[in-house]
Amino acid sequence: MAKSKRTAIPPEIKRILRNEVGFGCPIKGCGNPYLEYHHFDPPVNVRPHNEPSGMIALCAQHHKKADGGAYTIEQLHEFKCDRSNAELVKGNLDWLRKDLLAVVGGNFYYETPRIIVIDGKELVSLHRDEDGYLRLNVNMFSLEAEERIIIDNNSWENIGSPVDLRCPPQGKELEVKYANGDYLYLRFIELNNLETAIKRYGSDIFSSVQFPITAVEVNMTIANTSFSLTPKSSTLGGIQITGNFASHCGGGVCIDNSGIQWLQNPQWKIRSRIEATEHENVIRVKFGK
Ligand SMILES: [Zn+2]
Repeated sequence: MAKSKRTAIPPEIKRILRNEVGFGCPIKGCGNPYLEYHHFDPPVNVRPHNEPSGMIALCAQHHKKADGGAYTIEQLHEFKCDRSNAELVKGNLDWLRKDLLAVVGGNFYYETPRIIVIDGKELVSLHRDEDGYLRLNVNMFSLEAEERIIIDNNSWENIGSPVDLRCPPQGKELEVKYANGDYLYLRFIELNNLETAIKRYGSDIFSSVQFPITAVEVNMTIANTSFSLTPKSSTLGGIQITGNFASHCGGGVCIDNSGIQWLQNPQWKIRSRIEATEHENVIRVKFGK
């Protein structure tokens, strides 16, 4: 089979393909950001290749339809340059668990809902819903007056204009990069036992954790500030914290009076989506159009 001769698609080619469709499946009305990569010009059974000019990013459902011949080569070339679904892009973190170990910037938070709070606003937190599941909330902070992704109880949207947004169809990972260097990466991972956790994190601090457990790892950079959460450590306004374990705390890390003027998600951008109407009590909101 020709397929076995094809090499893996290089990450940079995938990034080009995601970017040209605005990080959402370009089929009309779709916008699904969980993208796969389809070879169509030529198809791989004619000639194996990884040439971006003959490839397109599609969601799993529309990829199957493309494999079945639903779209012509001409149509696929048109879809490839169509970013009109960019504003529909939103997703959902399907990892619902009643017990979660949060690994945020190289530190561990267990039954600690308000993980990092800066200037009174939750940067990373977990809220328990009425069914008892822990849902992730992330607010990206920025020095730029631009839209930054918002994760609200596991649902994410408001991606703005990233230079890359990567979320493979399995839904384990989400990675978003912006031109100024703002960056978010998160990943869900099953830790089957203590040994797995020790091996992954190089620490045996987990005595109060019951395994197996799901971990959610969150890393973030707020460009041009002294705030960064890397897999190894958290730098929060001049303080560096590594390998700490917070268990059953109301709050994890709380920084007040950072002195920084945060500009992400400016109100004027939100207001520009709202139109007044002739009735003073009625406004018209343009949802993502
Ligand atoms: Zn689709």
